[in-house]
Amino acid sequence: MTNELSVEHLHFRYHEQAPYVLKDIWLTVPTGEWLTILGHNGSGKSTLAKFFNALLVPTEGGVISCGMDTKDEHQWTNIRRQVAMVFQNPDNQIVAPTVEDDVAFGLENAGIPYDEMRERVYSSIERLGLKGLETQEPHSLSGGQKQRVALAGALALKPRIIVLDEATSMLDPTGKKEVLAMVQKLKEEENITIISITHDVSEAMIADRIVVLNEGQLVLEGTPREILKDDETLKKSSLSAPFSVQVANELRKHHVAIADDVFSEEELI
Ligand code: ADP
Repeated sequence: MTNELSVEHLHFRYHEQAPYVLKDIWLTVPTGEWLTILGHNGSGKSTLAKFFNALLVPTEGGVISCGMDTKDEHQWTNIRRQVAMVFQNPDNQIVAPTVEDDVAFGLENAGIPYDEMRERVYSSIERLGLKGLETQEPHSLSGGQKQRVALAGALALKPRIIVLDEATSMLDPTGKKEVLAMVQKLKEEENITIISITHDVSEAMIADRIVVLNEGQLVLEGTPREILKDDETLKKSSLSAPFSVQVANELRKHHVAIADDVFSEEELI
């Protein structure tokens, strides 16, 4: 299996006198995986994500994205085309007066020829379930729809990796479900590698694998089920498992037999 992302020995601080925000990060993400980086606010998640598409470049350690060394400035445009980012606030990502123009924006900037652009825009709109909304003003849509417009814009660029930086944290429960289901579909149907960033343990449950970041260090790695069982590390990282899981873990500590599937990942989201 090939790796879409490989981070080695990465240390980072914003200024020479400032404390380290990232400390000796090692991380590989295989093609087609959904990895969630879970951590409380200020743990370094967004900073780490900026290294994935060369918005930040390592001074200590290295980052290889889609086979390209992010230190090589000749590769930056290419890396940014392959690694699409979707951010927290849908309103800040809207740049055009209609849904179709918004989805086309990145392609126009990339100089994609008109016919191909139209084909990619309509195919992305369809795949994100936005058909019928092409000429709507994005600001008039629901939060979930707006994030799907942002995802359609990302998909149109034909990325190998989509990074979701707290992309559902401003949405209501319906919007969250809607967006996460679409991301799952893109992962399965397009084999796009997904890296999502969140401080919400329940939301991390959809991932194939989770890494927990605490004060700039990766402190835990495992499947959602393995992560949920480690209350101690979650607590130390200022995170807490959903209530139903805490109860199940407490009962297990007291040797009360609880089936492994007493909670399902889907129900937690
Ligand atoms: P998270 O995404 O987990 O909330 P961040 O990566 O945003 O964490 O922040 C990690 C640390 O880096 C915090 O202490 C934050 O104050 C600091 N930080 C973030 N951006 C900058 C910046 N541009 N300049 C200086 N410090 C920053």
